[in-house]
Amino acid sequence: MTAEVRSVIEVSNACRARCRFCNINALSPRKRYTLGREELAGIAARLYKERGRRVFLLQSGENPAEKFITMLCGAVADMKAALPGISVIACLGSLPKAQYARLKKAGVDRYILKFETSDPRLYAAVKPGDTLARRVRCLETLRGLGFGVGTGNIVGLPGQEPAGLLRDLLFFRRFSPEMASASVFIPGEDSSFSGRGPGNLDTALNFMALLRVFYPRALIPSTSSLEKARPGAQLQGLLAGANAVTVHDGTPEALKPVFPIYSVSRFTPEERFIKRIAAAAGLRPAAGPLA
Ligand code: SF4
Repeated sequence: MTAEVRSVIEVSNACRARCRFCNINALSPRKRYTLGREELAGIAARLYKERGRRVFLLQSGENPAEKFITMLCGAVADMKAALPGISVIACLGSLPKAQYARLKKAGVDRYILKFETSDPRLYAAVKPGDTLARRVRCLETLRGLGFGVGTGNIVGLPGQEPAGLLRDLLFFRRFSPEMASASVFIPGEDSSFSGRGPGNLDTALNFMALLRVFYPRALIPSTSSLEKARPGAQLQGLLAGANAVTVHDGTPEALKPVFPIYSVSRFTPEERFIKRIAAAAGLRPAAGPLA
């Protein structure tokens, strides 16, 4: 059995959204940064040559500024031209169809857009100014444009009903996702949920195991938030059926502290840790993309 190994490059922490569970939402006073085209493509080239990485996850806050999308498209086109055999995954939030189409044309292969919760009222409560219906339209647009699609929920969001998790499990089916994720809620220290209790880790692990049963061919990540919730839990995520892991070796060290998306003390695993837990789970790092 193999696991897909990705390098994440956190391209920018600029975000227009106001997700209540997030430390870097639009209301955060944090200093904002955005990598440039050459810097971004250069990081990917270094990881390709020095680490043999073939899958890159480009993550940022939600930013529909044309200048930002143009920079990303240029960097992705540069990466695709210079680095044979790579797969580029984008995780950039809800954007207009025309911008998704530009990203696809530039060479983005897959797009992750989590639905967070399948409960429309809870969605509106935790993402003020947004709706679940809009998120679903974005996912359908991504599918229609030919992206490999990834989506997921958060287990333990404040206000989540136990039956809501069952609905979440079935909700994935609407999109036949190539990538499916479940993360555990971590109360962001600077978010409006600061001081709330975390999600139940064992429930999250059980949910991941159910994802594996319901969606046997999906790429399921074991995320660093699991390890933050309890040391050893990222390995447990792999044992629960996950087959994708992300190495935090793409974001410049100086910028990692200003991308504290779920926690200011988030866990950012390096390659040695990822290799160790993959081996402990009996998984071999795949030489290339698995989707
Ligand atoms: S979770 Fe993503 S979209 Fe929501 S506020 Fe944070 S960075 Fe922005």
